[in-house]
Amino acid sequence: MKVLDLACDVGHSFEGWFGSEDDYLQQRQQGLLTCPACGSAAVEKKLSAPRLNLGATAPGCEVVPAADADAEHARQARLWRAVREVLAHTEDVGAGFAEEARRIHEGQAPERGIRGQASAQEVKSLLEDGVQVMPLPLPADMKETLQ
Ligand SMILES: [Zn+2]
Repeated sequence: MKVLDLACDVGHSFEGWFGSEDDYLQQRQQGLLTCPACGSAAVEKKLSAPRLNLGATAPGCEVVPAADADAEHARQARLWRAVREVLAHTEDVGAGFAEEARRIHEGQAPERGIRGQASAQEVKSLLEDGVQVMPLPLPADMKETLQ
């Protein structure tokens, strides 16, 4: 079934229900399609997009992009997964991070993944000495639930 918004030559608008676009064209061709208000056979489809009663998007209609809120939510979910992955494979050394990272780097402590807190100065110093460290961006609401 196809519902078309129609209008006659004097501007009455009404809906026409057809089996298909061809049905509409055929009825119109044969003069069977008349305005219910004035009987005029000069009926045209209105310029507005036709509605298909199938839930499909009418041709020419823009699909509305996902809301920013959804994109932000998806980004947050990916971040959470990444953070959980890191947490599952690292040992928390807390405030002793810089010292422990250096010990591991120098072979004085067992090689393993660690995480903890370090000041910007400590991180800079570690990087200068060739110790690979990277910031872990914790979602704001996750910091409170840690430990
Ligand atoms: Zn009319």
